[in-house]
Amino acid sequence: MSLDESVVHGSKATVKDLPSIDKLLRLPSVQGLVSSHGHTLVALEARAQVDNLRAQALAGALPASALLPEALGHMLAGRIAGRLAPNMRRVINLTGTVIHTNLGRAVLPQAAIDHLVAMMAGPNNLEYELARGSRGDRDSIVEGLLCEITGAEAATVVNNNAAAVLLSLAALGGGREAIVSRGELVEIGGAFRMPDVMASAGAHMVEVGTTNRTHLADYERAINERTALLLKVHTSNYAVQGFTSAVSEAELAPLARARGVALVSDLGSGSLIDMGKYGLPQEPTPQQMLAAGCDVVTFSGDKLLGGPQAGLIVGSKEFVTRIRTFPMKRALRLSKLPLAALEATLRLYLQPELLVRDLPTLRWLTRTQEQVGATANAILTPLREALAPRYTVTLETMVSQIGSGSLPIDRLPSSGLAIAPNLSSKRGMGTALDALAEALRALPLPVIGRIADDRLLLDCRCVDDPAELLRQLGALRAALVEA
Ligand SMILES: *Cc1c(COP(=O)(O)O)cnc(C)c1O
Repeated sequence: MSLDESVVHGSKATVKDLPSIDKLLRLPSVQGLVSSHGHTLVALEARAQVDNLRAQALAGALPASALLPEALGHMLAGRIAGRLAPNMRRVINLTGTVIHTNLGRAVLPQAAIDHLVAMMAGPNNLEYELARGSRGDRDSIVEGLLCEITGAEAATVVNNNAAAVLLSLAALGGGREAIVSRGELVEIGGAFRMPDVMASAGAHMVEVGTTNRTHLADYERAINERTALLLKVHTSNYAVQGFTSAVSEAELAPLARARGVALVSDLGSGSLIDMGKYGLPQEPTPQQMLAAGCDVVTFSGDKLLGGPQAGLIVGSKEFVTRIRTFPMKRALRLSKLPLAALEATLRLYLQPELLVRDLPTLRWLTRTQEQVGATANAILTPLREALAPRYTVTLETMVSQIGSGSLPIDRLPSSGLAIAPNLSSKRGMGTALDALAEALRALPLPVIGRIADDRLLLDCRCVDDPAELLRQLGALRAALVEA
């Protein structure tokens, strides 16, 4: 009996109608799949498909038409495409948070993407000195640039800023005491809590001051012969307001010097440029921290700097050398992928006038409400048409966030589209909004917005070109009609 003979349209198939794996693999369309993907994957998926069909047949829920050769081939091709589809996907970030940790933080500048791709396509001089033909140090790829940009004597790089803090504390303060203000015992999220990092580094944490006020005398009194360093932590994701005082790096530096201990500053975001120049909230820069007398400053590569995930450590030759040569460095070192992207990103900083154009993070942060509004306006009418008659779309002012824990109390005036379900009462509101948010996330290029006050908000700050979104509106409409 051939596959076709066993199938009667409209009727249900039984287990004895199922094709054998062999028979399935011999179908011409499946042979095509085997030549594209090889026997292993196709056979594996064919087996899973037949198992699935068997379960349906046993439940009496398998239409006989599902066993037609083209239906079987089509289904198998779909399974294989699903298995080969990557889990990591590009998305369109309409959350209004520019540096969104869940969405991959900073988006790389084109120069970094190009350099990364070029460097990964073959061998490179990661640890090889081309001039001398001898073994080199991967840090040297970015050390000169980092020193030039920050004014540091030396620099080294690791996997992320959490690693930079851990390594610095372990190398400089392991087995000894590290003094930190109670107002700066931050938790960044993802289990990065300063007291735990201290413990992991093997440094004994000595807390001084209070949650809201710490004075120079508090540090002074706590220093003894076991003290290795004073740690300043930039309270990047919260603000202590009201009756407060903290001791600045500039005030601590003379004390650290006089008592022979290191002054280490974890800046977190560490923008390399004066954000105030762009009308953005001011963030302390590594340059300022070094000029204030810090021995070591650590910061992230993928926050305000706008590059790949990396932890940057800049400071005096003496302390950076101790950090670089500490054995733990080997376990935390930066891989060649982000290193290539980091070099190209840092090189952009040699032409600061071009940053607003070429560094996506800065481009998006500096976009005015009017500029974002123009983008939103270009999307308004087509989106209205795609969502009519079930949803109403309006152009509205919004507030964006910088994100990634940086500058938590600062907001950027922005613009975007607010979508409300056309319902006469609040009943079903949540369901309708969730259905829309889900349909947006299910698009080929998923669109991520945020729900607030019974509306789905699409903040257009991070949209350079609305075409990618507009192209998907047909699919969105179709998905909502089906739902
Ligand atoms: C973000 C942050 C970190 C962690 O940096 P990662 O690059 O995410 O590892 C550490 N300290 C502070 C103050 C931060 O803001």
